[in-house]
Amino acid sequence: KRTITRLPEWLKTPIPSAGTNPNYAKIKADLRGLNLHTVCEEARCPNIGECWGGSNKAEATATIMLMGDTCTRGCRFCSVKTNRAPAPLDPHEPENTAEALARWGLGYVVLTSVDRDDLADGGAHHFAETIRRIKQKKPTLLVEALTGDFRGDLDMVRIVAESGLDVYAHNVETTEGLTPYVRDRRATFRQSLKVLKHVKDVKGKDNIITKTSIMLGLGEQEEELWETLRELRKVDVDIVTFGQYMRPTKRHLKVEKYVTPDEFDLWGKRALDMGFLHCASGPLVRSSYKAGEAFIENVLR
Ligand code: SF4
Ligand code: SF4
Repeated sequence: KRTITRLPEWLKTPIPSAGTNPNYAKIKADLRGLNLHTVCEEARCPNIGECWGGSNKAEATATIMLMGDTCTRGCRFCSVKTNRAPAPLDPHEPENTAEALARWGLGYVVLTSVDRDDLADGGAHHFAETIRRIKQKKPTLLVEALTGDFRGDLDMVRIVAESGLDVYAHNVETTEGLTPYVRDRRATFRQSLKVLKHVKDVKGKDNIITKTSIMLGLGEQEEELWETLRELRKVDVDIVTFGQYMRPTKRHLKVEKYVTPDEFDLWGKRALDMGFLHCASGPLVRSSYKAGEAFIENVLR
């Protein structure tokens, strides 16, 4: 007998339409001709109306993917293509990205990338150069970098941390116990904690915001999640997000549980009680979900 797994109601979302939010329509129109590849559009993210819409333009957020579309790692939850030798970096990407972002009407940008274990520096200089050029051209644009772990090479973490960015994000993705089943074997929970800690060590605790994201629904136990949050607070991580893990294809890890919106709310409250500055928590939350709005409301104020 065939089993059909139905999505719970709360995961069925309306497709965003330009009609409801003038900001969204404007930002989408501005994107034409800029030759920027947003994760928001390419992954058909259901939050695009909220992120690009924002209540005002200063808060509008988008996510840009740098360094190509092919990753040297193969995490079991991720649908990005894998290859040991991806195409070389485009040396013009830092300048072109900065130029396009300076012209686009955005308040907050998340720069992310595939992992490039094939490069000696893991792409750290490319990342840092992009951030420096953005800040030269448009100093008011808030920049978050969501990086990999650079194989634990803390000198590379330093290069990105010192590039002028506002938020350094690196995702632990899941609990320590589930990490070997969920992430590529080159990634470890302890290595990710070291990355997050090093950013604070380099910049000083109060001079940079650090952030991480956790997927729920992979089989994590409640006590393990508490432990994860405690470990993150020990290294002064400021922002945490929780979202539902969604299986991209049958070749990826199964969803063990659809976590209810009430449970997400509860974890959001628990995180704030533990001292996190901000926690976005909900079934459709992705690490960059309304990041601009959250930064302006919870960090700048
Ligand atoms: Fe883009 Fe991230 Fe917002 Fe989705 S959650 S629309 S990927 S900024
Ligand atoms: Fe996907 Fe990132 Fe893992 Fe690469 S390192 S497979 S992009 S989650």
